Amino acid sequence: MVAESSMVCHECDLLVEVPRLEIRQKAYCPRCNYLLAANRPYAKRVVFAFATSGLLFLVLANAFPFLGFSAKGQERTVTLLQSVGILVTENLPLLAAVVFASIIAIPAMFLISIIYVSFSLANERSYPGTRKTLRWAVLLLPWSMAEIFLIGILVSFTKIVTIADVALGASFWSYVLFTICITVVVLHLDKRELWEHVELLRHD
Ligand SMILES: [Zn+2]
Repeated sequence: MVAESSMVCHECDLLVEVPRLEIRQKAYCPRCNYLLAANRPYAKRVVFAFATSGLLFLVLANAFPFLGFSAKGQERTVTLLQSVGILVTENLPLLAAVVFASIIAIPAMFLISIIYVSFSLANERSYPGTRKTLRWAVLLLPWSMAEIFLIGILVSFTKIVTIADVALGASFWSYVLFTICITVVVLHLDKRELWEHVELLRHD
């Protein structure tokens, strides 16, 4: 028997019955040719490796100076957390909370969730809350805005460099590497396949 599961095409909303895929097989939407699912045997390892590295780089991104500014003989360095704290001192606590959540807390929770689910799959047993963790990871993903934050920084650079010398700290580069890692994780994450595998896990 070929196991089928139905899914809605992300691009054109067509309901498609997708059969279980053989290794390296891909399923495309019959109407708009959007890639619906792919069986990539290496994908789970890639997801685990990059999720772990991403989390490590995120920790490092909070450990060193993020940016340094110097103008008119005055120098100042800020860490990533201090840059969020500045919003609080500017009387924008709600914005500070949203920024902290979308650039640090949510990406961190997403990566930890994915690492937990990966462990569960690697050991072929359902750890407590594996399904809930996967559900949370999928729900959290749209609220992770690491790459948007980086683009925002690069855009603001073009203005700041006209009034001050800007130095990129070790944490800035860690954050760039973290953003690359989380992007690789997202690109290799097949939610449908993960759900299927999580559903099949043994419960002890
Ligand atoms: Zn489609």
